[in-house]
Amino acid sequence: MIPLTVPEIRGNEWKYIKECLDTKWVSSVGKYVETFEERFAEYIESRYAIAVVNGTSAIHTALMSTGITNNDEVIVPTLTFVGTVNPIRYCGARPIFIDSESNTWNISSEKIIKFIEKNTIYDESTGKLINRSSKNQIKAILPVHLYGYPTDMDHILEIARRYNLIVIEDATEALGSKYKGINVGKLGDIGCFSFNGNKLITTGSGGMIVTDNEQYAKKAKYLTTQARDDEKEYIHNEIGYNYRLSNLQSAIGVAQLEMIDEFIEIKRRNAMYYTELLKDVKGISTCIETPAVFNCFWMYSILVKKDEYCLSKNDLLRILENHQIQARSFFKPIHTLLPYQKFYSENIVVANELYEQGINLPSSVGIKKEEIERVVDVIKKGRELYKMQNIT
Ligand SMILES: *Cc1c(COP(=O)(O)O)cnc(C)c1O
Repeated sequence: MIPLTVPEIRGNEWKYIKECLDTKWVSSVGKYVETFEERFAEYIESRYAIAVVNGTSAIHTALMSTGITNNDEVIVPTLTFVGTVNPIRYCGARPIFIDSESNTWNISSEKIIKFIEKNTIYDESTGKLINRSSKNQIKAILPVHLYGYPTDMDHILEIARRYNLIVIEDATEALGSKYKGINVGKLGDIGCFSFNGNKLITTGSGGMIVTDNEQYAKKAKYLTTQARDDEKEYIHNEIGYNYRLSNLQSAIGVAQLEMIDEFIEIKRRNAMYYTELLKDVKGISTCIETPAVFNCFWMYSILVKKDEYCLSKNDLLRILENHQIQARSFFKPIHTLLPYQKFYSENIVVANELYEQGINLPSSVGIKKEEIERVVDVIKKGRELYKMQNIT
């Protein structure tokens, strides 16, 4: 069986965990929490980093820390994992779903502008962008660097400046990716990362918020530690959350972070190998890296064009499964999911198409060359294998 992604644990993880256990510093205070935050901030080149329990809570905290609240509206791509959008609802805010670009698979800045021009009023004096139909304020854009590929941030930031919007990056899938030489997560006002077991580095479960804004950083730390105003007297002047990452998990994080450059190098090499082997397969394409971006290739992904490849995405997924290869479909666009059908989405075409065609291929750091060759072999012989499969 070739798995989709398994963590790579071969550094100092055991050593650091043992130290936590031996010293009994296992919980939400301890030197590894601070070390992890410091080294992470150093890696991203952000002023602040706040460790949290997972990527979803990182996004929730980022939204709260930047002042997103009841009935505010947030512009978000519909093609993403639901963990991007649920935190918007945790805040009582409302998503505005925007279509993807066909070349990067990320949110289309052109379509954001179209939405704004058609549906909003910008009040220069107050700096408020108001949704004409709901009368609510649109406060933020939440771009997602899907599967590792950086969003075209120049255009996003230009829109944000023009309409006074906060930019919260969902960089959970793109740790190590860069846009014009700058780490994703640092390009907007605040950025979010995940250390789930399937992400580039893992702490079992974990997340990180990064920002250069002192006020946001302080608020994030405050909200994630139960909004503690006075430790001794147990005074809490706001409703906070228990979102702090434990010392044990941070210890794993520190060890994983020591390996990150090697992980990215391997991931990129594997991605190039996939691309090389797949380049002449009719009907199969991938997302091409432009000179502006550096992709960590968290998840190597392909599109299956049914009229050229002669099989659909689902046909190919079934064949891969029958050959003990774990692949998976792209995310189902969020505007089609039951809790989100009532929110704004208009003219979504590209995201639906990408969903119809997109597959993530096995992308573990530890995948062997021969395993990549086996995956590609099955893809190449797809039609043949499909016939045989349907005969037997
Ligand atoms: C993984 C992921 C999240 C959430 O991270 P968790 O650590 O699983 O909570 C959010 N958004 C995207 C795009 C993700 O891939």
